[in-house]
Amino acid sequence: LSYQEALNDATGSLILPGFIDGHAHAPQYAFTGTGMGLPLLEWLEMHAFPCEVRFSDPVFAKHMYEKAVQAHLQSGTTTVSYFASVHLEASKVLVDVVRAAGQRAHVGKVSMDRNSPVALCESTVDAIADATAFAEYVLLSNSCALQPAAAAVPLVTPVVTPRFVPSCTSELMHALGALSHRYKLPVQSHLSENSGEIEWVQALHPDCASYAAVYEQHGLLNERSYFAHCVHCSGGERELLRCAGSSVIHCPSSNFMLNSGVCNVRQYLDEGIKVSIIYTELSVLNCMRVGMVFG
Ligand SMILES: [Zn+2]
Repeated sequence: LSYQEALNDATGSLILPGFIDGHAHAPQYAFTGTGMGLPLLEWLEMHAFPCEVRFSDPVFAKHMYEKAVQAHLQSGTTTVSYFASVHLEASKVLVDVVRAAGQRAHVGKVSMDRNSPVALCESTVDAIADATAFAEYVLLSNSCALQPAAAAVPLVTPVVTPRFVPSCTSELMHALGALSHRYKLPVQSHLSENSGEIEWVQALHPDCASYAAVYEQHGLLNERSYFAHCVHCSGGERELLRCAGSSVIHCPSSNFMLNSGVCNVRQYLDEGIKVSIIYTELSVLNCMRVGMVFG
């Protein structure tokens, strides 16, 4: 083809760069649009955890992850930071599905070794071993994966993914911090989403000044870290985030649907903290609309 023949005439159209979604639980695509109205901790018990149990089956995972990745692409989202589940094999499946679709992504095998349903609760030893094995699988397979010629860095990056403080022991969080440091990997998790969650973290870690301080004490707060929600971060937590160079992932639709509260994005930006956005509904424009109305 000559270049003239390869041109697409977009007269009358609006051309945008691909959207970037900073936080997506790929398994939750299986129950998109249900379970709204419950507060966070009840919603996890009622909907998120029972769904994630099914991802112990890599065949089911492949079926569902192909749908989830395609749904993101069809919404114009060309880069996503995914949470998979605790299952090592299914998490590798998500990496393979993302690569085959040509999407750019951070993919994380979720780590959980306390306060979790039996079917999702790893032993600390297994949690550390599988988080390491997953990161090394992605890094190793990157060296032989087919890449678009223009891709200067691999399409898929492994991301260290403690689910949130209540579901990870101190020993596991220290190990995940060391894993992030060893391979210079990004870290994703949740922070100060809901008042019940924050009280739970304070009870589990009375020696830490705040929720964010727990991540800091375990080597999980650095310039490669980003945390979803951050609805109720105190001044001290915002200062920790700013000094570490960590980022906030703003989740307007989720905050609205689970009644978590209003995130003061303007305050973060004014204080020099980086903020990104997620598209819980898969529709980027809908989420931007909710973000403008609801904060
Ligand atoms: Zn989340």
